[in-house]
Order: sequence, then structure tokens, then C-alpha cells
Amino acid sequence: MGKPTGFKEFKRETATRRPVESRILDWNEVYLDIAEEKLKRQGARCMDCGIPFCHGPTGCPLGNIIPEWNDLIYKGRWHDAIEMLHKTNNFPEFTGRICPAPCEEACVLGINEKPVTIKSIEQNIIDHAFENGWVKPCPPATRTDKKVAVVGSGPAGLGCAAQLNKAGHLVTVFERADRVGGLLMHGIPNFKLEKHIVNRRVDLMKAEGINFVTGANVGFNIKVEDLHRDFDAIVLCGGSTKARDIDVPGRDLNGIHLAMTYLPMQNKINFGDHIPEREFISAKGKHVIILGGGDTGADCLGTAIRQGCKSVQQFELLPKPPAGRVQDMPWPYWPMIYRVSSAHEEAAAPIGHDVRDFAINTQSFSGVNGVVKKLHGIRLEWEMQGSRPVKMKEIPGSEFTLDCDLCLLALGFISPEPEGPISQLGVKLDQRGNVLVDQNYMSSIPGVFAAGDMRRGQSLVVWAISEGRQAARGVDEFLMGRSDLPKMKLF
Ligand SMILES: Cc1cc2nc3c(=O)[nH]c(=O)nc-3n(C[C@H](O)[C@H](O)[C@H](O)COP(=O)(O)OP(=O)(O)OC[C@H]3O[C@@H](n4cnc5c(N)ncnc54)[C@H](O)[C@@H]3O)c2cc1C
Ligand code: SF4
Repeated sequence: MGKPTGFKEFKRETATRRPVESRILDWNEVYLDIAEEKLKRQGARCMDCGIPFCHGPTGCPLGNIIPEWNDLIYKGRWHDAIEMLHKTNNFPEFTGRICPAPCEEACVLGINEKPVTIKSIEQNIIDHAFENGWVKPCPPATRTDKKVAVVGSGPAGLGCAAQLNKAGHLVTVFERADRVGGLLMHGIPNFKLEKHIVNRRVDLMKAEGINFVTGANVGFNIKVEDLHRDFDAIVLCGGSTKARDIDVPGRDLNGIHLAMTYLPMQNKINFGDHIPEREFISAKGKHVIILGGGDTGADCLGTAIRQGCKSVQQFELLPKPPAGRVQDMPWPYWPMIYRVSSAHEEAAAPIGHDVRDFAINTQSFSGVNGVVKKLHGIRLEWEMQGSRPVKMKEIPGSEFTLDCDLCLLALGFISPEPEGPISQLGVKLDQRGNVLVDQNYMSSIPGVFAAGDMRRGQSLVVWAISEGRQAARGVDEFLMGRSDLPKMKLF
């Protein structure tokens, strides 16, 4: 513990966002750098708790050794800090930017004060390490003769591949998209995570000996039998890509799109790819309505604003969450509270209020010449059990109609796609349609493993990395009879 009185002397400080009016003119990340002195003060606030909840089961899913690196930052020992951080997290440059930071919600200081700024410290440790040339390819000293196929190159596939490669196995990552990175690359907009950050890590992994094959759609242009024949183990990390849709009159009108049809297009344009104008979905000059109040909806919001929409609103079926913790959301658990993302701040700036509206149901869409023009909605009343909404009913007479020439459906994801490797391999699924695995992440088919959203359902980047690492440990044990890779009990 760097400074025993730090938590009494210093207040929480976080990185600030660039001014709204300038940041909506570009696609770059919204956060400004935070001064080293501020980070040191945050490191000094850490109490080095006897039981560090930040690191425990309700905190970081990777088991990041947070009190240790808080102390190292306070003492200015940046090189030691990255060594410590890389022990538990292969990609702190991703989580430092886009993790919602369950560690901060679990921080003991958060009981009666604001928590330690753990996420900014994490991001700065890795950014500092890259700037100083400390992050270099580390190929394994020896190779086993085992080959592993990883299907999917999102954070789960990348985490798994990195760990298996460390253990000396020859890893090939098959990715059906044209670029590596999964949702980090195609779903999450640049204003949250610039793509050179993903490419930089993928280049390091290539230099460490991992083979990436893009345009490789396993189960379609790559046969699962070929993977079975050519590899000693297979790890399925294909994500949870089956999106929830809405079944109301007018859904088939043009101009109503799933978020994951819309978002990847702008990311592609930002890469410099060409999309023909008639195919490109843009919010420019349109009245946009986003259905769904989660992360994906917020990403649609920030994208629509940058594209120059005429107006934008975001509707959520559930009621507005409380502003802070309530009795049934106690510390150290993740609270479902009202949060204002950078996109919400951008949308509110010109009109002075939040563009989100809660407890709204969509009844139908109507259009002209096959193109959506109006959304017809109704307000809802929710019956609550504590802070948990249990039953909804429509409020008679609260019907409304709004202009809408682009509707984006950000309603969450149901499960992985059953077609392709899942059905062709015949792996067993759980009740929600995710791949069922044992404690070692092995599916019902020996030698076939699964991790990330494909295993746990739609989740977070930090969980995907964590699951990828744990599946790698399971694979290593399966192939070698033992493993030196780290193990955590996650589920
Ligand atoms: C728009 C959006 C924004 C998000 N924002 C955040 C955020 O800010 N913070 C956060 O923590 N989480 C966020 N999430 C959630 C997070 O991105 C996911 O939980 C995480 O990416 C899951 O990782 P994964 O590796 O399991 O799957 P994915 O990232 O989905 O990667 C799966 C990969 O597998 C590939 N694939 C699928 N099937 C095949 C096949 N048959 N053959 C070859 N390749 C295949 C896919 O093309 C994809 O590249 C967001 C999700 C979305 C949709
Ligand atoms: S819970 Fe908070 S104060 Fe305690 S060790 Fe973790 S970061 Fe430090």
C-alpha cells in the first residue's frame, strides 16, 4: 500500500471526455489522456484491502491483481505494473477502454466514498508500456506437436489463442469476417475503441506464431470434418450473434434494421472500405429511433449523431433504473442503475435533456412506398418487485406516433447461430441455446471446447477474454495431461 492516508486525502478523478461539439465531428476515441500525477493519486487512494473485492468474484472476471498495480503506479514503477497486469489480462488495452469496470463497482472504497479509478489506471499502464516499447512479441521457447483450431477471433478467441500459444501449441484462428477482432473490430464503434489498437495486438500475436485465416466460415467454406482431421482440439468462440427481433405490423418496411447490420457498415467505411451508396445505411438527415437501451443502442446513438441525423430518440421497454444503488442492489454487486454514456451526453447536448425514454412498447410501423415513416408506440406501466420489473401493462390512451425514417433494433442477442459448427459437430446446448461445457470448458464432444458469448450468452469483453483463457487451460490439460496455464473457477 503506497500511501496509507491516500484514501482520506484524495478524491476520485477520472479521464475527461473531449468537448461534445468537437468529438462528434470525428470518429476518434472520446476520452482525453489523464495526467500521470492524477493516476498516482488514484493509486494512492487504494487501501490494499485485506479482502480486495475489486479482484474477487464480484469484481474483475480476469482476477486482475489490482491492489498490486495500484501500488506500483503510486510508486512510478510502470514497467513492473505492466508485467503484473499482463499476468492476468492478455489485452488490457481493450478492457482499459471499453470494460464497464465491475472492479470499480466492487471496490471497498465505494461503500462510503467514490471507488478507485481502476479502469483508467489499467489503460494507462498498457498505453505507457506500448509507448515505451516494452510490449514485444514473446513466442514460446519450445513447441509441442499439438495443433489447435480456434473458431472466431473476438476477445474470447484471441484470449484463448494467446494462452494456447504460450503453452507451445500451434494455433490457427479461423474468422469468417474479412478482419480479425470479432465485435471489437466490427461492432464496437471507433469512438469507443480505435481499430489500430486491435490491429496492433493482432500483429503481436502473429509475430508470436499464431496463424490467422480470415474469410474462413467454419461449417460452410471450411468443413468441420477437416478441422477434426487436421487439429488435435477445436475451440468454438463464435459469439452470440442471433439478434432479438421485434414482431409487429410494418416490421418488414425498408429502413428498419438490426443494430448489427447498421454498426459494422460505418466501421467498414472508417477502415476505408467502399460500400455502394444504395447498400450503405446512414442516419444522415433522418429521424432516427433506436429500440433498446443497452450498450448496443448507445453505440447506434453515437454513430447516428456522427452521421448527421435530423433527430434521434432511444426507447427502452423496461422502466428507468434508479440513479444509485437501492436495497436489493447492494455493494459489491453490479448495480443496474441509470448511466450516462458518452453517446447519451452527445445526444442531450443540443436539446438539454436525455433522448432516452423508458417503459415504451412499439406497437407498429407505418410507411410510404414500402419505406418506414412512422413508429407507433405506447407507454407501459410496470409492476415491480423491489427494483426488479416483473409484469408490464400498456397504459390506455398513452398511444403516440413519431416520425421515423430509420429504426435501429438494439434488442440484445438470443444465442449463437445453431447453423454451422454447432449443428455440424452436434455439440449439446444448454436451455438458452449456448454451447454446454464442463468445468474445463469441454463440450459434449471430446476435444471440442467453447468459450465467450457462444458459451455464456451475450456478455462483456472482459468475460470473453477470461473464458478464452480458461478454455485454453482446459485444452492444454486435455492435450498434455497437465497444464501450467493459470486457472480460475468461473462458473
Ligand atoms: C455493438 C456492441 C457493443 C458492445 N460494447 C461493449 C462494450 O463497450 N464493452 C464490453 O465489455 N462489451 C461490449 N459488447 C459485448 C462484447 O463485444 C462481447 O461480449 C464480446 O465481443 C464477446 O466476445 P466473443 O469472442 O465471445 O464473440 P465475438 O466478439 O462476437 O466474436 C465472435 C467471432 O466469431 C466469428 N464467427 C462466428 N461464427 C463463425 C464461423 N462459423 N466460422 C468462423 N468465424 C466465426 C464472428 O465473425 C466473430 O468475429 C458489445 C457488443 C455489441 C454487439
Ligand atoms: S477494493 Fe478498491 S481499495 Fe480495496 S484493494 Fe481493490 S482497488 Fe484498492
